[in-house]
Amino acid sequence: MKAAILYAPHDFRIENVSNGEIDEEECLIRVHACGVCHSEIHQWDQKIIDLNYPRHIGHEVSGEIIKTGKKVKGFNKGDRVAVWTDGKGYAEEVKARTERIFPIAEGIAYEQAMAEPIACSTNAVLRANPSLADTVALVGTGFMGLIILQELRLLGLKKIIAIDIRDEMLKLARALGADITINPQKEDTLAIIKDLTNNKGVDVAFEVGGVQPTLDLTAEICRMEGKLVIFGYHPGPRQIKDLGYWNWMAFNIINAHFRDIAVILNGARVGMELLNAGKIKMERLITNIYPLEKIEEAFKAAKDKPEGFVKSVVVME
Ligand SMILES: [Zn+2]
Repeated sequence: MKAAILYAPHDFRIENVSNGEIDEEECLIRVHACGVCHSEIHQWDQKIIDLNYPRHIGHEVSGEIIKTGKKVKGFNKGDRVAVWTDGKGYAEEVKARTERIFPIAEGIAYEQAMAEPIACSTNAVLRANPSLADTVALVGTGFMGLIILQELRLLGLKKIIAIDIRDEMLKLARALGADITINPQKEDTLAIIKDLTNNKGVDVAFEVGGVQPTLDLTAEICRMEGKLVIFGYHPGPRQIKDLGYWNWMAFNIINAHFRDIAVILNGARVGMELLNAGKIKMERLITNIYPLEKIEEAFKAAKDKPEGFVKSVVVME
């Protein structure tokens, strides 16, 4: 089968590789789509010392079951499914055990059914556990922020504030349920937040952007004793600007990063149920679709974020 292997930064090569036989508890899935994850951009863009190349990455997979192992129950050939894999997703086929496979409801396109990012955002909301009357801010409303936003909306909070430097993302955030949007490059974010919160700051502040300015801004807008949720992926040398301030403000710091596979799978199960029930809408979030041969372009778009970009997905033809 064909697969895209990352040999070095900016050097994906399409190769023929073998997947081997499935064992009796696995399914073989013909991949239809694999999302390009923000967490993969770093290793594609520059050599990461601790990582071995060549690498076969890709973990946001969806497709159709084409073979089931003897002991597999509950899934059949022909089922449309989302899969959480630990890599090897940019390929025509993947193998997976059933606990990592989630049904996709009719009417939901493969490229919209990305179990892994949906798992991460769902787990972040579950762990942050906002209260009904909370004012919540999202600092960064790209793909992940816009999923979190929709899940927060389901909780019926007092106010959801979307903050982003791309106006088109703020427009989308408003369409998906944000009450207020702020562009920090054009507006005085702190003044607006103070005005909205009686000078206190927000009850829950999600840092989603994964860069130093979003981290700093999240701390600036969170109220004393508020929940400061670190969701963004931070591969670079980020710093807490003023730990004394974080300490004094008695922030309830929540690391919304998940490594425990059981937790990830539970998030995927809950999130996929919301997607299948039509409670999370992905149509407007999947903006850039590329065939496997153009995977370099998919990554380039994910890094450069051209006009209108929200998410890149690689599809098999
Ligand atoms: Zn991912």
